[in-house]
Amino acid sequence: MDAEPPDDPHVEAAEESATADHPCYGDGTHKEFGRIHLPVAPDCNVSCGYCDRRFDCPNENRPGVSSDVLSPEEAVDRVGEILDEEPRITVAGFAGPGDSLANEETFETLELLNERHPQLKGCISTNGLLLPDRIDRLDRLGVETVTVTVNAVDPAIGEEIYGGVTYDGTVYQGAEAFQLLLFQQLRGIRTAVDRGMVVKVNSILIPGVNEDHLPAVAETAADLGAYVHNVTPLIPMAEFAEHESPDHQQVAAVREACGGHLNQFRNCQQCRADAAGMLADDRSLASVNVSGGQP
Ligand code: SF4
Repeated sequence: MDAEPPDDPHVEAAEESATADHPCYGDGTHKEFGRIHLPVAPDCNVSCGYCDRRFDCPNENRPGVSSDVLSPEEAVDRVGEILDEEPRITVAGFAGPGDSLANEETFETLELLNERHPQLKGCISTNGLLLPDRIDRLDRLGVETVTVTVNAVDPAIGEEIYGGVTYDGTVYQGAEAFQLLLFQQLRGIRTAVDRGMVVKVNSILIPGVNEDHLPAVAETAADLGAYVHNVTPLIPMAEFAEHESPDHQQVAAVREACGGHLNQFRNCQQCRADAAGMLADDRSLASVNVSGGQP
C-alpha cells in the first residue's frame, strides 16, 4: 500500500503541473508521453560502486551508458530532429553519462532548450552532491523535476556503496566522503522541494547491502517532501560485479515496504543516458537517423 499524497493544495497543484505529462512520475503517463536523455555531461564527482561509465556500448541498456557525448548545440539539434519523429516527447532529461550538475554543458543545454524548444520540460538526474549549490541556476532555468539517487542514509551502509567524493577541488574518502554526500543530498532535496520542484528519489537495490535499509531511505525522502521513489535492481558491474541482481519478487517486496512511506514509481526501464522516445519503444539518440549521428 503506497503512502498517502500530501494535502497542501499549492503543493498538489505544482506537482500536478510538473508531472501530468512526465513519463516517469506517474502511473500511466509513460504510455502517452516520452522523453529524451541528452548525454552532454561526461564528468562525475562521486565514485558509486555499481557504476561503470563507458560510452561505446550501444547494445547495453543501463543508466550511465551513452554511445556518444554531445555538445549542447549537437544535443539541441538532435532534439529538433527526433521531435519531428516522435512528437509525444515532453521531457528533456539529463542523466549522464556523468553527473548532470558537475558539467557546465548541462546548463548551457538547458538555456538552448529554453530558447529553441520551450515546450519541453528540463528534468535533472543527479547524485545530489552539487544540488544545493546549483539550485538557483536550475530554478532560473525553469527546471521543475529533479531526481536524486539516494542509496543509503546510514553511514555504515553508505560507505559500502560509495568510494571517493570530489567536492570543491578536494577529494574525500571513506566516512567523510559519504557524510558529505548524504548531507548535500538531503539538503538538496529539501531545498528543491522548497523551491516548488518535484523530487523523485532513485535507489539502487543492492542485495546483501541495502535491501532492508531502503524503507529508511524512503521514510527520510518522504520527510523531506520527495514526491515519489524509484527502486531499481542492481545491474552487477564494477565493485558489485560479483553480486546477484535482485529478482522481480525481491524488487516487488522492497517496493512494497518502501511504499508505506513514499509512493513508488514502478515503470522504470533503467534507460541509457542517451535514451529517446517512449519508454516502451526506446532507442538511443545514436540510433536515430539524424545528421551527425551514428548508424
Ligand atoms: S531511467 Fe527510469 S526514470 Fe529515467 S527515464 Fe528511464 S524509465 Fe524514466
